[in-house]
Amino acid sequence: MPIDATQPYDDDNIFAKILRGEIPNKTVYEDDFALAFHDINPQAPTHVLVIPKGRYVSWDDFSAKAEAEEIAGFVRAVGHVARTMGLVEPGYRLLANIGGHGHQEVPHLHVHLFGGRPLGPMLM
Ligand code: IMP
Repeated sequence: MPIDATQPYDDDNIFAKILRGEIPNKTVYEDDFALAFHDINPQAPTHVLVIPKGRYVSWDDFSAKAEAEEIAGFVRAVGHVARTMGLVEPGYRLLANIGGHGHQEVPHLHVHLFGGRPLGPMLM
């Protein structure tokens, strides 16, 4: 079920548990600001989720409340993952679902990184 992006942060959400090491994940990258891991239900040959380490429900509160250092660190981590996975050429897609209409299901900000095949026109 899609979430309300304005809800308070829930420390029991599945990505919070992954960050605390309570649930296993297939990590591809980690630094002080971000964790990147393979999506459990991949929609492309490469489907990685990149999440900030801070407690942010969605792009909405992250963009409004995160420190500039956190935002820069997260954005750099997304780019680093794409580069190190060899996706810059031939290309890839980033996607962030936000709230109900965005069909966001996990209430911790995450960016989907898709690649490994031609992805066609923008997903809807
Ligand atoms: P959303 O619709 O943007 O919130 O997408 C949530 C994503 O999290 C989906 O693509 C799920 O397959 C993925 N997901 C849910 N639980 C796990 C997990 O435990 N590990 C990795 N990916 C997960």
